[in-house]
Amino acid sequence: MWHTNIGNFHLIFTKFVNMHKSILDSDIQFLPGVGPKRALLLKSELEVFTIGDLLHLFPFRYIDRSTIQKIGSITTDAAYVQVLGQVISSSVTGVGRKQRLSVVITDDTSQMELVFFRGIKYTAEKLKVGSTFLFFGKPSFFNGKLNMVHPEIDFPPTGGPQNFSGTLTGVYASTEKLKNGGITGRVMNKMMEAAIGMGIQDIQETLPDYILREKGLCPLNFAIRNIHFPVNQASLDKARYRLKWEELFLLQLSLLKQKYIRSRNEVGIKMLRVGSPFNACYNALPYSLTGAQKRVIKEIRADLMSGHQMNRLLQGDVGSGKTMVAVLTALIAIGNGYQACIMAPTEVLAQQHYANISKYLAPTGIHCELLTGSTTPAGRKPIHEGLCDGSLKLIIGTHALLEDDVIFKNLGLAIIDEQHRFGVDQRSKLWAKGNAGVPPHVLVMTATPIPRTLAMTLYGDLDVSIIDEMPPGRKPVKTYCFGEAKRPVLYKFMAKQISLGRQIFIVYPLIFESEKLDYQNLEKGYEDIVEHFPYPSYKVAIVHGQQSNEDKMLNMNAFASGRANILVSTTVIEVGVDVPNASVMVIESAERFGLSQLHQLRGRVGRGSEESFCVLMHGRKVSNESMKRLNLMCATENGFDLAEEDMKMRGPGDLEGTQQSGLPIELNIASLTHDGTILSDARSYAEHILAQDPTLEKPENESLAAELRKDKYNVKDYSKIS
Ligand code: ADP
Ligand code: MG
Repeated sequence: MWHTNIGNFHLIFTKFVNMHKSILDSDIQFLPGVGPKRALLLKSELEVFTIGDLLHLFPFRYIDRSTIQKIGSITTDAAYVQVLGQVISSSVTGVGRKQRLSVVITDDTSQMELVFFRGIKYTAEKLKVGSTFLFFGKPSFFNGKLNMVHPEIDFPPTGGPQNFSGTLTGVYASTEKLKNGGITGRVMNKMMEAAIGMGIQDIQETLPDYILREKGLCPLNFAIRNIHFPVNQASLDKARYRLKWEELFLLQLSLLKQKYIRSRNEVGIKMLRVGSPFNACYNALPYSLTGAQKRVIKEIRADLMSGHQMNRLLQGDVGSGKTMVAVLTALIAIGNGYQACIMAPTEVLAQQHYANISKYLAPTGIHCELLTGSTTPAGRKPIHEGLCDGSLKLIIGTHALLEDDVIFKNLGLAIIDEQHRFGVDQRSKLWAKGNAGVPPHVLVMTATPIPRTLAMTLYGDLDVSIIDEMPPGRKPVKTYCFGEAKRPVLYKFMAKQISLGRQIFIVYPLIFESEKLDYQNLEKGYEDIVEHFPYPSYKVAIVHGQQSNEDKMLNMNAFASGRANILVSTTVIEVGVDVPNASVMVIESAERFGLSQLHQLRGRVGRGSEESFCVLMHGRKVSNESMKRLNLMCATENGFDLAEEDMKMRGPGDLEGTQQSGLPIELNIASLTHDGTILSDARSYAEHILAQDPTLEKPENESLAAELRKDKYNVKDYSKIS
């Protein structure tokens, strides 16, 4: 009956849409069972505009309707179950919004309560005492009794449970508005059935035959049909694999193609020499570079000599020695007659860079200056002049470097520290400070390790260098997690460490929305510390964002120079601050920080030769997830491992370091968290194809070129904005 209807409709419809390219492009309202009202909802809630869009809305999970569980066998309260039960009682309690319907069902093993808060009248009428239905939902135990809230209700299978032959049913993303508008899960399945009936033969294969063959992928129309209505688990697996692989493959193909085109077109300044400033600095180093530092400098050298513009991301854990690499890179640029700049996200960090780097520069005779928001007009003038006439070779600064009146004579290299703190616009401004249309080489440094799969996607067209080796002599930081009850233990431990001559960081969270409260916490914490560590036996410094720059520097310097034993602060110290004598990091309300932030903070200690400690203090009410994070911190010290775990826990979209730039593309079915293996395979296959046909002009790759022209793969060019 249903099918005949579609058949007829299809005929009329085909005539109607003849002017369209295909049925897939037709407005969703023309799908049987949709109509203008529901179409509006589908458009606003799910961005489904056409029948093709609907077919590309994939289920996010499947209900296994092939098994019916005995009520007596249900033990867990996590998974979904399907039971066949007879109604033995039904009662409505409460009034108004507190009203609820309680229905007790039974099978031959046990009983279960079903609870409804909505649609009470309708449901009560349907679930008459004595009648039998299939119920599907998430069971839970309440007061030791099994219950299910708002289960889905189905008529029992005809012929009794023995003959039941259900399948995997797709569950689609839904919203309250969709449900209220009548687009329930079941309606969605019906619409999808209609869409498949009408549209499946119009689905065009997107991947060339040779790829399907070489990669053993199923055809697209098989995949689309089975992702919605799997014949069985094996077909679903095949469909899923094909769709994920295709999605990641096309994404990588577009990123790599851009990279290829850019490296061919973008002229870069050729810096052929190492130069004497580099050698002077290198030879005077008090230590030898780590293997990883040497490797990265080689990679950078190759870029600078290539004649193409360098666009390199340098990832390395806190303390891995990125600054040294930055300095040596700047010295190569200077040795080749160009200027270089190093941009840091905060004033404190820029100052610290300036102080450190000036030391490294001493043996080279190169002069550098600092330019920040608080540089006085009188101080700015000579700096501006020096940059403009080329006498000033190296400038270190904050956003102040981006201002219009900062003009370089010949900027050859821009180094950006902690890139994720800079906005996209700011980075492109820097890019434009090169001369005569030749952009400077760009080195972006980040201490927020990004998992490999994410880096491949986020920075798919950037080159990535990784410093995966710490300078020798660093001891692991012992990490502990304490509740409030252990505070006395903490204070005793702190006193002991101070008596040994060590210094201590205490960090409070500062989260934007509750800033006021956070400052109260910080101040209360400070008072508490001063009470337990009184002057003059102890000296406690405090740094936070509401202080004047002067106060901030005064307190920072008191700690950095060793005059203060304890530094109480907000996360201003998160990035970069280097106090080798500080060996204890106490993080208050640690549950409120993300993993990578905790890791950054911990990286502030363990820089000297002493044994170092990190204490994570947490409040009374901590969610399971936060506790998992804290425990992971205690167990793992490797930033990349933590980043992987963080991504698994929170999903890539929420990872710190990616919020600002966001993912270049929204993935429909693949997951960067779970599909790393597919991603690697798809990426190397994309490389293999581009090696033979870099611009995808060969006839066999025509469908690929066509796919990449679609909006979805019009990926932002991240290299341009870094
Ligand atoms: P990052 O910027 O990656 O956090 P830094 O460049 O600040 O790390 O280096 C951390 C510390 O390690 C600094 O005190 C630096 O002098 C020191 N350092 C850097 N490279 C080496 C090395 N190869 N051997 C020994 N110490 C090093
Ligand atoms: Mg650093």
